[in-house]
Formats: sequence, structure tokens, C-alpha cells
Amino acid sequence: MLFDTHVHLNAEQFSEDFEEVLTRAKAAGVEKMVVVGFDRPTITRAIELVEQYDYLYASVGWHPVDAIDMTDEDLVWLEKLAEHPKVVALGEMGLDYHWDKSPKDIQKEVFRKQIRLARRVKLPIIIHNRDAAKDIVDILSEEKAAEVGGIMHCFSSSPEVAKQCMEMNFHISLGGPVTFKNAKKPKAVAEIVPLDRLLIETDCPYLAPHPYRGKRNEPAYVKLVAEQIAEIKNISFEELAKITTDNANKLFDLD
Ligand SMILES: [Zn+2]
Ligand SMILES: [Zn+2]
Repeated sequence: MLFDTHVHLNAEQFSEDFEEVLTRAKAAGVEKMVVVGFDRPTITRAIELVEQYDYLYASVGWHPVDAIDMTDEDLVWLEKLAEHPKVVALGEMGLDYHWDKSPKDIQKEVFRKQIRLARRVKLPIIIHNRDAAKDIVDILSEEKAAEVGGIMHCFSSSPEVAKQCMEMNFHISLGGPVTFKNAKKPKAVAEIVPLDRLLIETDCPYLAPHPYRGKRNEPAYVKLVAEQIAEIKNISFEELAKITTDNANKLFDLD
């Protein structure tokens, strides 16, 4: 059984064939998924979905690219949603220096506010990092994020950064890029992360693994991620699947 810890089934890319996507996920052995909301429409949709399907859970937060749009009312809304029985984490939140829609200082402020919120409501956080590893590590440390811990999602930084994050109580989640032939860093990270800190995800509809690279990603493909990591770790697929599922259940406080 597999646990896809990061899906955007709330994205419009799944509106046409939603049920088929779920059927293929089940057939591939995916037993649970966390639907990640990152702005008003996707958070609203994530909550609708988790109220409808018992094996879907939600994480709600504000994406750094859209940090400039987050109001104080939105933060109050997130705090209220944190009480929802199927909201298991906050995020994705973090820093993204690739896109320049939101200035860095606004991204940092919105990130800090959400970490403080997570500490108040005692939920783990899901971190999005693009080209911002140093500032992310600094802010996680300054805001005492270790108190709640969480997930470095679709981790693409160095093994050194992975170690720093693990020291702060974070799990490392790997996605499609670990299957790319030229992906040296994710493979090196897969090698050094201890099994009890490892998670898997698709981040679908983005970042489809080999041989679907460039196509729409979907939860069923998390199996390809698991197979690749099992090979790197030199353990069986079944063992890798069980350990990463156990890790996710423990982190999200599920049975
Ligand atoms: Zn992300
Ligand atoms: Zn995402």
C-alpha cells in the first residue's frame, strides 16, 4: 500500500476524468492521499473533496508565489480550517524565488505567520522551496518550526540541506524527479535519508516521473517513485511502500 503525501486533485487538470484518476490510484495500491490547497479556490476544493472521500486528507496553506494575495482574514480562515477533522497539516508554504509575483520580504512574512499559526494549532507543515534553501532553513530555525515538524515536499536541494532539515524534525519527501536519469541530487538525497524520515509524493498534476515526464502526473505514478527509491535503497518495493506509508500515518496522526 502506498501513501501519496502531496496531490493537487483539486486542480482543474483533473476535472474531466476525476473518478478514473482515483480508480487508477487504487489499482496502483495508493490507499491514502493528502490534497494540498494553496490559495482560496484550491483550499475550498480540497475541503470539499476530503468531506466526500474517506481516504483523502487535506493540507491547507498559502503558496509563496501567491503570498502577496494573502489577507489577515485568510489567516483567520486557515486557523478555523485547522480544526477540521480531516485537515492533517498546514501548507504548502515556504519560499519560491523562481517566480517574482510576490516580493521576497512579503513571502518571508507570510511564511513566518503560517509557521506561528501551525505552532498555535499544533499541526505539521508542508514546505515548498524553490531556489531558496538557505532562507527557508534560517526561517524554520528562527520560528522554531521543529516544534511541529513536517515535510520538505518534492525535495530538490542537496544532501547537506536535507540533513539540516531533518535535524529540525522534518521528513524528506521525494517525487517524480528522483526517477529522472540526470537527477543527481534527488538520487543522492534518497541515498542518505534514513528510512524513518522518508516520504513519497507525486505533486500531481506536476512533475510526472519517468517515463511520463512532461505529461500530466497523477497519484498512480507514485508507484514509480517508490520503485526507484527502493532500488536506490536496495530494499524491496513492498518494504519501501510499508515504511513510507507508516511514516506518513504517524506524521499525520492517522491509523
Ligand atoms: Zn510545491
Ligand atoms: Zn504542490
